[in-house]
Amino acid sequence: MEGVSRREFMKKAGLIGVVGVAGTTLAQHLPKALAQPLSRKPKGLLIDVDRCIGCKACQVACKSHNSPLPWGRPLKPEHTELTDTLTNPPSLSPHTWSVVRFREVIENGEVKWLFYQWRCMHCSNPACVTVCPTGALKKRPDGLVVYDPDKCIGCRYCESACPFGIMQYDNESKRVSKCLMCFDRVDRGALPACVEACPTEALKFGELSELLAEAKNSGKHMWRGEGFVGGGTSVIYLTSVPLKPILPEEKPVSSTLMTRGREIVRDLGYIGIALVTATSIAMIVSNWASRREVKE
Ligand code: SF4
Ligand code: SF4
Ligand code: SF4
Repeated sequence: MEGVSRREFMKKAGLIGVVGVAGTTLAQHLPKALAQPLSRKPKGLLIDVDRCIGCKACQVACKSHNSPLPWGRPLKPEHTELTDTLTNPPSLSPHTWSVVRFREVIENGEVKWLFYQWRCMHCSNPACVTVCPTGALKKRPDGLVVYDPDKCIGCRYCESACPFGIMQYDNESKRVSKCLMCFDRVDRGALPACVEACPTEALKFGELSELLAEAKNSGKHMWRGEGFVGGGTSVIYLTSVPLKPILPEEKPVSSTLMTRGREIVRDLGYIGIALVTATSIAMIVSNWASRREVKE
């Protein structure tokens, strides 16, 4: 699928609407007309910070689309908090998978407000997937990092491994959660809910290679987490002001070293589980033996 702006998408949907009026209903036509084969080409998201007006339509659309979740759990509303930033809620949580960050920067002696959506980056080599001991987290061929909540054992390795602090642990359900790039919508040819809701086209979903080319040709500052993740992220930020004050500073790292480090963390986890199991069995056997001795 090519990069699709909201306007192009609405045009397409409008055309289908006309067909629908002439024939059967729009609702009958829409799923078939928008259905596209599941591409294996990596997808991405371009976030143009210059276009974002901080309206939070994406934040609201995310919660609205994902609640209740396909597996039945609701995403609860959060209390707003007055902090030194207008970002509200101040951070991601198990019930907020996307948050619009507000940042004040000084440019040429003038104060400027920057707004940008913050959410899972759908990394090219996701650390969360590497460390997950049960295979609950998966990277699909189209680049979307999704997860199966039934396989999640709540070990929280992914939470520690994510270099961007995206993964959120829910104490109630004992599960983790994050943005799933609206895979249910993408699979039926629709745009992610946040992209569709954005009134200024600050968010653009499409093929990663095309979005990267567009970003490189824009002449703006570009960020895609290459200093954190081997291969970078599928979410690309663009701004006309330097990104350093608003996004984590890129630090060159060896992706092989990073991946190996995470494998070690995962292996240590397995060893830990094995040790706990062995100790428990030893204690059961020892208790049983002592009870037997007392009886005799
Ligand atoms: S940003 Fe974090 S949670 Fe998202 S894919 Fe990358 S490592 Fe996983
Ligand atoms: S892609 Fe879907 S799940 Fe991810 S932030 Fe946008 S609306 Fe939320
Ligand atoms: S909907 Fe678009 S303009 Fe509004 S806050 Fe989100 S990214 Fe920015």
